[in-house]
Formats: sequence, structure tokens, C-alpha cells
Amino acid sequence: MKYYSTNKQAAEASLQEAVVKGLASDKGLFMPEKIKQLPQSFYDKIDTLSFQEIAYTVADAFFGEDVDADTLKKIVYDTLSFDTPLVHVNDNIYSLELFHGPTLAFKDVGGRFMARLLAYFIKKQGQSDVKVLVATSGDTGSAVANGFLGVDGIHVYVLYPKGKVSPIQECQFTTLGQNITAIEIDGTFDDCQALVKTAFMDADLNKQLNLTSANSINVARFLPQAFYYFHAYAQLKKEGKANNVVISVPSGNFGNITAGLIAKRMGLPIKRFIAANNSNDIFYEYLQTGKYNPRPSVQTIANAMDVGDPSNFARVLDLYNQSVDEIRKDISGCWYKDEAIAQTLKSTFEKTGYLLDPHGACGYQALADGLAKDETGVFLETAHPAKFKETVEDIIGQTIEIPKPLLEFMKGEKKNIELKNSYDLFKETLLKDK
Ligand SMILES: *Cc1c(COP(=O)(O)O)cnc(C)c1O
Repeated sequence: MKYYSTNKQAAEASLQEAVVKGLASDKGLFMPEKIKQLPQSFYDKIDTLSFQEIAYTVADAFFGEDVDADTLKKIVYDTLSFDTPLVHVNDNIYSLELFHGPTLAFKDVGGRFMARLLAYFIKKQGQSDVKVLVATSGDTGSAVANGFLGVDGIHVYVLYPKGKVSPIQECQFTTLGQNITAIEIDGTFDDCQALVKTAFMDADLNKQLNLTSANSINVARFLPQAFYYFHAYAQLKKEGKANNVVISVPSGNFGNITAGLIAKRMGLPIKRFIAANNSNDIFYEYLQTGKYNPRPSVQTIANAMDVGDPSNFARVLDLYNQSVDEIRKDISGCWYKDEAIAQTLKSTFEKTGYLLDPHGACGYQALADGLAKDETGVFLETAHPAKFKETVEDIIGQTIEIPKPLLEFMKGEKKNIELKNSYDLFKETLLKDK
């Protein structure tokens, strides 16, 4: 299958090129040229299939032409080796818990899948010494690092801003060792990202090293996120609740929700989607006015959604032929201030016993506010509340337990390289490992 760029100025790429490069040469995002409808027979029996079987069917529709069946099956089964339960919260609202993987956030799915697919292609290209560079403000670095942990021939460098990630997030990529190096930059997330970009543009460095990126725009990270929409539907079907399904997605860069829109194109009977945001309400405003007005992000307690210019917006536009009216038919938007997020978290916990995290709270509230009587709502619970321990404990006035995998990370020895915000020093560090 070919992949085109959303900017339409670059030549089409093979899956292999799209995965290894990440971004098209015209700076656009890769999109699959075909989105295959899955047969009715698949939807008829979806509730009898395991999550892995469902995901393999979906993966085959995208990647089956380019990856042999045994490899693809192994990648899918390996990626989804943790629980993703659908939990009833109250009334007609369900939570799809995507936080039972190694770093307790939904990015584990895309991170693991991409790591394995990239490793497969790198091996196929006969490369044995590849450096993956990733800048992170918290969650992405840990998901990518854990995905690549122990993968032969690949070394991951995670750049993160000093003092700006939570201690729990930090330990998820600084204690791994093996082929993962954490670099703490005395600067901001933007500085980290700039260092990575400069490295990719440095011809001298690229002559000496095989560099690749692992950011959220990579198709190998983005498309597998479609799997769990099918899984949610299958679970609802089992319970006889699969009519008029509405899915609410806590959104930042809009990669997760875009994967859901693609699932719908493949024939998955989802009635509509809600993009749930925090105070960064750029998409909501776009739906209201038809004008896209990106701006610097503001800081909130749902910080993984603090995005002022969502990178996957280009993919949403592309899917709907740039038409805001078409987009409005499938997606509505809403946004919540910190006080509202905290209120939702607290009252839901008190009324139902279900503990949301600040991101899931936006997703839940969007359903509580906008679901019709004959609809069934699912929100994606994108992270475990313990990842935001201090915030959540403050809100509910109780201590919460840290799950075991997280405790394991916290016990590990922290190792990192501390660097000033200097490209020369960063380059030197990379070359030292040649
Ligand atoms: C990354 C992230 C989001 C936002 O996902 P996008 O695909 O960027 O829209 C939401 N919640 C959590 C916990 C995240 O880590």
C-alpha cells in the first residue's frame, strides 16, 4: 500500500519509507491511500473474537500487503499483551481502560507496535545500528522507550526538559538502562524538540549515524490506535448495547481520535465522536467558527492534552476533504477548565466509586453533558490516575495506591546524562556512542 503526504507535495511512499522516515519530505503527514472496508461477516461475529484476533484483522487491512502474515501477527499479539477492559461507570456510560500497559497510558499500544514494526524494517534494510531520537514532555518518551527496550540494533535517546516532567514520568525512562539513554536538557520541551530537529537536518551527523524519529505522527504509531475502537464495540455488542455508540476521546494532538475516525471509515458502526479538550480549545473553536487558529498551549491539570496546534489536525482535514461541515457530521467538541475537570473527578468518585484521571474526566464529562437517552457512550480512559498522583489525591482528599508496574520503575536506579541546551554537546553525546 502507498502512503501519500497530507501536503500533497511529496512523492508517495511505501509503508517501509513512511515508517522509517516518520514525516514526509514536504513536512506533511503520511496517510494510507486506501482505507479498506471490513466485510459484514467480520462485524457480525466481532463479539466472539478476542482483542488480538480483532486487531490482527484490522492490522492486516493496513499492513498485510507489506508485512508477512506471521510477522504481523506476532507484532499485534506482542503489542496487545495487556488488559483493556470496558468498565461500566454509570447510566449508559462506559470507560475503555487503556492504561494497563507498562507505562500506564494508551500510548503503550502505538509505542510498542511502532517499535516492533520499525525494528522489522530496519532489519530488512540490513541496518544494524540505528539511533531513535525522541523529545518528550512526559508520556511519549516512556511509551517509546518501553516499546524499544531490549530491541536489538536500536538505541533510543529520550530528551526531556529538566524539572518539567513528573517524578513518576521521569522514572519510566531513566531507570530502564540497556538500549535506552535518557538525556536531561537544561531547557524547555521546545528546546528538546529543536535539538532533535537540528540533529535530523545535520548532514555531517547523518553521514556518520543512522538516525530516525519516533514521534506521534508516525503511521506505525497512529494507525494501531484504531484497534481498540473495534474492541470497545465488540464488548458493547456482547452486552447488547451496540446501537448508537458515541465515543468520547480526550484529545491533544488528535492522533487517537483520528484513528477512531479511520475505524469508522472501515465500517465500524460508531454513530459519532466527541473530541474532549481542556482549556486548549482550538478544535472546539474551529467547529464553532470554521476557522483554525492555532496558538501557544496553556498549562492544565490534564497536561498531556496541552496542545495549541494539534499535529493530526491535518489528517482530520484530509479525511473530510477540508470541509468543516463534513467534520461536524461526525465529531462534536467540548472543553473543560481545570476547576470543572476537578469537579468531575471528585463527584464521579463520590457517586460511583470510579476514579478518573484528569484526561479521562474530560472524556467522561463530555458524555455526561451530551449523551442522548438512546445512545451508549464510551470514553477512552487514556491514563491511570496514579500517573497524576498528587493532583488526583488533592482533588479527592485521599491517598491512592500506586500500581505494581509503576512501583517497579520507581525502585529502579535513575540514570541520565545531564546536558546544557547546546546542540554541540548533544551531537558530541550521540557521536560518543558510535
Ligand atoms: C497523549 C495523551 C492524550 C492525547 O492524545 P492525542 O492522540 O495526542 O490526542 C490524552 N491523554 C493522555 C493521558 C495522553 O498521554
